[in-house]
Amino acid sequence: MGKIMVRCTQTGRSIETGMEMEAARFQRMPVFFSRTYCPHCRIHHEWFAAHAWVEDSRDREPFALA
Ligand SMILES: [Zn+2]
Repeated sequence: MGKIMVRCTQTGRSIETGMEMEAARFQRMPVFFSRTYCPHCRIHHEWFAAHAWVEDSRDREPFALA
């Protein structure tokens, strides 16, 4: 399982979405749209799955999906 992360467009910092999924499964998912609260901006950011990545707990090196 890995944490699904997105990039804050305002600060460029990564945000934990609170979602967890296996990287392989995440890559197979259809494009979806979600909202995540950003602790840096203190607002919700909207993001597409294409902009998210999975930070695998076994492999600390995050990889981009797009
Ligand atoms: Zn933000």
